[in-house]
Amino acid sequence: MKLLENKVAIITGASRGIGAGIASIFAQHGAHVAFTYSSSEAPALALAEELTSLGVKAKAYKSNAGSFDEAQVLVDQVVTDFGQVDILVNNAGITKDNLLMRMSEQDFDQVVETNLKSVFNMTKAVQKYFLKQRSGSIINMSSVVGVKGNAGQANYAASKAGMIGFTKSIALELGSRNIRCNAIAPGFIETEMTAKLDEKVVQSWREGIPLKRGGSPEDVANACVFLASDLSSYVTGQVLHVDGGMLT
Ligand code: NDP
Repeated sequence: MKLLENKVAIITGASRGIGAGIASIFAQHGAHVAFTYSSSEAPALALAEELTSLGVKAKAYKSNAGSFDEAQVLVDQVVTDFGQVDILVNNAGITKDNLLMRMSEQDFDQVVETNLKSVFNMTKAVQKYFLKQRSGSIINMSSVVGVKGNAGQANYAASKAGMIGFTKSIALELGSRNIRCNAIAPGFIETEMTAKLDEKVVQSWREGIPLKRGGSPEDVANACVFLASDLSSYVTGQVLHVDGGMLT
């Protein structure tokens, strides 16, 4: 069953990893997909082609989610290109890990700007369209680290916890207009990036998870399909943990 037929989704940071997984699964569910990247142009263009071959409209946009002005221009351009927008997935994110003692002001600011301010930028930009059509679903990609904290990731944890506060506030503010806003808190998701890590270390992480495995981008993408689709039409202001039971 196709759950997102004829809906238009904007996904930030979908040139690789979890974002690319969301774009593929959304397209398989019939959504038209506009997605952004920061610098990975070749993979982004290849993904757009792959999605188009599934019979939906898809386009890659180079746009810095951390820039307020670029976010406004992007969303207006997507509406010009696709005619509407129904779903926003704020997925773009970076890490700049270090112990507080060694964390520079720039490392803090860059992470907060890319991970948290981007959510403000993009939500502001889609809001006028969602208000006009009296519907919309916003999904913010937080993290287990935003819920629990993590040594060496004070900047990242602060940005991801901030996303949760933002999510709940927007759910309260826009609920009366049938605009929903939820967050996903993934645990350890295995991507190309984690494939480069020491296998013994990764195996010890897997053993610590109740489901005894890392998650896949598809695991996160399927949760996004639920929150984006009408299946979750009475769900807002929630944090959905997609972590194999890590926080249980
Ligand atoms: P990746 O590093 O694999 O991909 C990040 C994506 O974001 C890329 O497409 C990248 O584009 C894009 N991006 C980076 N900066 C910007 C920017 N300023 N503007 C627009 N796009 C940008 O990350 P993951 O797939 O692992 O993670 C995706 C999200 O999930 C992140 O928010 C992350 O914090 C969160 N998350 C990930 C977990 C994991 O285990 N992997 C666990 C919990 C949460 P480009 O390719 O051009 O650089």
